[in-house]
Amino acid sequence: MPSTPPTPEADNPTEPVTGWGRTAPSVARVLRPRSYEEAAAAVRACGTRGGIARGLGRAYGDAAQNAGGSVLDMTALARIRSIDADAGLVVCDAGVSLHHLMEVLLPLGWFVPVTPGTRYVTVGGAIGADIHGKNHHVSGSFSRHVRAFDLLTADGTIRTVVPGTDLFDATTGGMGLTGVILSATVQLLPVETSLMSVDTERAADLDDLMARLTANDHGYRYSVAWIDLLARGAATGRAVLTRGDHAPYDALPRRARRDPLAFRPGGRLPAAPAFVPEGLLSRATVGLFNELWYRKAPRHRTGELQRLSAFFHPLDGVPHWNRVYGRGGFVQYQFVVGYGREDTLRRIVARIARRGCPSFLAVLKRFGEGDPGWLSFPMPGWTLALDIPAGLTGLGAFLDELDEEVAGAGGRVYLAKDSRLRPDALRAMYPRLPDFLALRAELDPRSVFTSDLARRLGL
Ligand SMILES: Cc1cc2nc3c(=O)[nH]c(=O)nc-3n(C[C@H](O)[C@H](O)[C@H](O)COP(=O)(O)OP(=O)(O)OC[C@H]3O[C@@H](n4cnc5c(N)ncnc54)[C@H](O)[C@@H]3O)c2cc1C
Repeated sequence: MPSTPPTPEADNPTEPVTGWGRTAPSVARVLRPRSYEEAAAAVRACGTRGGIARGLGRAYGDAAQNAGGSVLDMTALARIRSIDADAGLVVCDAGVSLHHLMEVLLPLGWFVPVTPGTRYVTVGGAIGADIHGKNHHVSGSFSRHVRAFDLLTADGTIRTVVPGTDLFDATTGGMGLTGVILSATVQLLPVETSLMSVDTERAADLDDLMARLTANDHGYRYSVAWIDLLARGAATGRAVLTRGDHAPYDALPRRARRDPLAFRPGGRLPAAPAFVPEGLLSRATVGLFNELWYRKAPRHRTGELQRLSAFFHPLDGVPHWNRVYGRGGFVQYQFVVGYGREDTLRRIVARIARRGCPSFLAVLKRFGEGDPGWLSFPMPGWTLALDIPAGLTGLGAFLDELDEEVAGAGGRVYLAKDSRLRPDALRAMYPRLPDFLALRAELDPRSVFTSDLARRLGL
């Protein structure tokens, strides 16, 4: 990617920038620093509309956009600086992707401590959104494994930030609004092989699913349920549950033992077409897909060996899959409600099913203890994530109502997925928001760091 030098804003051309859901594109000057010095110069060159760091643009909404201002694309700052292969510690630039970390670290017997549903995210984006994975109930979110990071703040200084400090807690999940993360030290997870041992089972409805998850999630490092939100009546909330762990060396067939730690992400399918007719994803077509997918899943299967990519990142095999929702893009709605609030979850699932949102496989998972990030999303409870075409009639009002239910139950919506939440709902959902705003006012009084999300939510 050609590098754009961080000269004053007027010298750089503007480009459209969007999130993964492609719902609210905006135009900004995109700067691509290749060194810490260039990053500092880029921050100094931000004009009155400020700037925001951006990784691989996998946040669904407007978190890494900044209409009329600067966007610092950090992906050219992508060096792995050191690896301690005995202790499992990596020090890397913030623009390094989890994909690259896997390529380099798996052969050494180490895996990233937390991976989301795509490995095409950067370490900076992983900290900025304090991402979670299928192992949240056991391992917490990404920040729990971060030993330190270097943060470029609005005054141009670079601070080394460690856990247990306010700046750490404001930055992990702080959506880039405390500064630009330049590098991080991350504790890795030891693995014996690059394969997963996976158990699959079907759940007939939502209560059956919650009972299965509650009964023995703790026996698995990774756990997730793909739920059919178009099924109605007695089948409401039916799901396929997949759980597993890294396969031990002994579980491998002889053939695979020759190179047990090889990283084999698998081939990529043809990219989704650039133009998909509106209306292709109707309730009927998506319902048929979900039906076939549910029927083809085994009722019960244990110990299946799967590649990491198939288990963690099935969508990465289809480049630009986000185009299937057509030109209007799509909204991803993800919320969490605490344990004891199962009735709220049941009510929301029933409402979504009745509403007939043409949503491909949605995901339900149990979170464990939350991490201290002030705007970090996970808290102990049930989290549901679903994609919905943005053009669905009445979607805005419908999701506002769901926000009210979620906030009323003490839950919250995930900012990395969001493009439409209202500021009053945010205040109700994130009790540490006043602390975040106070720290930001002190650290960055001129709001050098800002984004479309920040302006929309008054952050
Ligand atoms: C298919 C898919 C599946 C996903 N699954 C999950 C999941 O299971 N769990 C989960 O938690 N998330 C999930 N996500 C969301 C994704 O993990 C987060 O949005 C993540 O932040 C994206 O990282 P990125 O590098 O693309 O950052 P961007 O999307 O570019 O930016 C995200 C945020 O991080 C900030 N940021 C980026 N780089 C820096 C930096 N260097 N310094 C400071 N701030 C920075 C940005 O300002 C922005 O606020 C998924 C996304 C997709 C597309």
